[in-house]
Amino acid sequence: MDYKLLFIYAWIASGIITFFYLLYGKTAPYGRHSSKNWGPMISNKAGWILMESPAFFLFIAFTFYGNPSFSTVAWIFIILWLIHYFNRTFIFPLRTRTKGKKMPLVIALSGVAFNSVNTWLIGSYLNENAQTYTENWLSTPQFIIGFSLFVIGFVMNQRADHILLNLRKPGETGYKIPQGSLFKRLSSPNLIGEMIEWTGYFIMLWSLPAFTFMVWTIANLAPRVVAHHKWYKEKFEDYPKERKPFGLF
Ligand code: NDP
Repeated sequence: MDYKLLFIYAWIASGIITFFYLLYGKTAPYGRHSSKNWGPMISNKAGWILMESPAFFLFIAFTFYGNPSFSTVAWIFIILWLIHYFNRTFIFPLRTRTKGKKMPLVIALSGVAFNSVNTWLIGSYLNENAQTYTENWLSTPQFIIGFSLFVIGFVMNQRADHILLNLRKPGETGYKIPQGSLFKRLSSPNLIGEMIEWTGYFIMLWSLPAFTFMVWTIANLAPRVVAHHKWYKEKFEDYPKERKPFGLF
């Protein structure tokens, strides 16, 4: 019996359950939805660095274990992941203007668990398939569509995070209505961009571990897009009516 495969199916199923829990049950309590009802708290910045670190360091450990020789295409997959997670682990948290803000320790630890499992699946997959993707893969529809989606999603995510991170002046802590770019139609283009990115990564690799990570990213972020939109409408009376969670609905 292939226990790893069984585990992956169970992990996908728990991602789907998490999706419904976050959509209809409780919103994950960090950022604007942070709450003191979830036990001990840690600094927001430290929480981000802690929870994203496995996606950077464990990825290197699992992917490069045994020092395999990677094809050019495998290197592209590795480099894209590392660029994203170098930003998310080190640059994004340091750019946040969340002075004095805290997140529940349990959220940071569940982020560590979530990132560790997904990173193990993707890193070990790349390690075992170091030579599977030959240069012919570069001209397949999967690679062309997936790579394009990844880049589009990455740019959306970066641009939107950049706008959000600059809404506050240094030392400010409140919230404002973000303006410009994709915020004209979307409440959270950063989160939509992130979902597009990892959908692209799955299509580019066309593999079960990357599919699993896409499922988990959507499970985490789609309910958050809905929660952010509802929060904006409740907080700001003048919140633009044409702005929707997913653009069209
Ligand atoms: P948010 O959009 O809630 O916040 C991003 C940053 O901007 C935070 O520092 C936030 O401050 C600040 N901010 C947001 N809106 C405003 C506003 N209206 N006025 C002032 N400041 C604002 O994103 P998340 O915190 O949910 O996620 C951050 C990043 O991490 C995103 O790029 C997301 O895609 C990614 N992510 C990926 C996940 C995955 O599963 N792959 C899971 C979770 C996040 P504050 O913290 O004070 O609200």
